[in-house]
Amino acid sequence: MIDKHAIVIGGSIAGLMTARVLSERFARVTILERDRLPNGPEERAGTPQGKHVHNLLVRGLRIMEDLFPGFDDELAAAGAPMMNYGRDVRLLVSFHQWMPNVETDFASRAASRALVEHVIRRRVRQLPNVEIHERVIVDGLHVSSDRRVTGVTGGSLGIGDRGQIFGDLIVDASGRRSRTPQWLEQLGLPTPETTVVDSEVGYATRLYRKPKGFDKWTVLYMPARLPSVRGGAIFEVENDIWMASLGGYNRQYPPTNEAEFLEYARTLPQPDLYDAIKDGEPLSGIISYRNTRNIRYHYERINLPTHFVLLGDAVCGFNPIYGQGMTSAAMGAVQLGETLDALHGDLDAVTAQFQKQLAALHDSMWLLATGEDLAFIHLESGSGDGPDPGWFDRFVQKYAGYCVVTTPSDPHIVQTLFEITNLTKPPTALFHPRIAVSVLWHQFIRPRLGMSPKVAASN
Ligand SMILES: Cc1cc2nc3c(=O)[nH]c(=O)nc-3n(C[C@H](O)[C@H](O)[C@H](O)COP(=O)(O)OP(=O)(O)OC[C@H]3O[C@@H](n4cnc5c(N)ncnc54)[C@H](O)[C@@H]3O)c2cc1C
Repeated sequence: MIDKHAIVIGGSIAGLMTARVLSERFARVTILERDRLPNGPEERAGTPQGKHVHNLLVRGLRIMEDLFPGFDDELAAAGAPMMNYGRDVRLLVSFHQWMPNVETDFASRAASRALVEHVIRRRVRQLPNVEIHERVIVDGLHVSSDRRVTGVTGGSLGIGDRGQIFGDLIVDASGRRSRTPQWLEQLGLPTPETTVVDSEVGYATRLYRKPKGFDKWTVLYMPARLPSVRGGAIFEVENDIWMASLGGYNRQYPPTNEAEFLEYARTLPQPDLYDAIKDGEPLSGIISYRNTRNIRYHYERINLPTHFVLLGDAVCGFNPIYGQGMTSAAMGAVQLGETLDALHGDLDAVTAQFQKQLAALHDSMWLLATGEDLAFIHLESGSGDGPDPGWFDRFVQKYAGYCVVTTPSDPHIVQTLFEITNLTKPPTALFHPRIAVSVLWHQFIRPRLGMSPKVAASN
């Protein structure tokens, strides 16, 4: 523990997880959050994405459990159902095929984003050396002549007074709308390059009451499967609520009008989602969201002022379809703790070191998210203003596609895919010889021998 003060901009998943990690290493941690924070699992203006399906990946759940022992029990006590990937998730793997049933103990919780944030926030509020200042909007960085960030400037919403607050380490966890690039520019400092891969996905979500006695699945997940660019998911979350989100690539935005929303659901490759909601009892209106592009700010490539780091969506926002954001935020917070420990708390060195390590963490997540997106972008419109992916990324993307469509013939691949997409194993795990041979056999050799595919049972 160092006798120093850390300031965190943003009190959402990334900010709260970071505050937890820093609370063990700094005498004092202050979170500055623009919103008034609710006492329960409620939506708020600063996180409009919270109204849509949020999949908490297994890696994210494990980190949260590690930092807040009993976290999973708290989600369960609030009514969030268990989501065992072999048993409770019905997943469409190609236009016609469902993922087969597998015996696995690989599981997460199906919860609303509001509940996940609420449980984390409740635990952070119990930390004696963390203070949360609500209704405070940060509008600039205070940088000393030796290029050190020494504090932030901002104002109190409602009261209207402005001021400065000083700290020894400043963390920007203010999400996709982070103003750091503008603040750096105003200070005459270098600004980061960005890489954008935009498959122009739009979401529309509605809540339904789960029908009494329904137990076929906890999660129905039907990602877009070519040649269709439309997909959808239903997550059973706490209080027997079904959160149903529809989404389409290449501006195939799902409508917010009731009849058209249902019609869009009817056009998905398989009828399961439409059948589940067509006679359902709606509990909300239909809400849309379109700010979904993959965007990376390359802070690791610039000479940032010291005593300052950024993490979460402020550095890397992923197309939400792959469910990586909360887990990426949690991994970033853990990485920050590890970097600080490795540097023995040397705050002059932490900025450059941390941003490089964070970028390395983001690399494989980025490959997973953009790999699939690129298949859709190159199909129709959509845009990527980043460098064109090289042959290796394209090869991985193509090979991963073969692995996915092999799952109905080989349930062993299922577990590996679950582990990769849940970020508990790197994408390279797909190149295990056992998997490569299976893909070769089922996708290339069997068809040439005129043998029909062997298909495992799906739920
Ligand atoms: C439609 C959609 C669906 C998603 N689905 C998933 C999913 O399935 N799984 C998953 O893991 N992730 C998902 N995500 C991503 C996930 O929501 C974010 O990655 C996650 O919330 C972590 O983000 P964050 O904490 O970095 O930023 P945010 O959650 O955006 O929070 C930023 C916080 O900073 C505050 N703030 C902003 N500016 C200031 C300022 N100047 N001063 C003070 N406070 C400020 C805001 O009020 C807010 O509280 C989805 C995102 C979208 C858009």
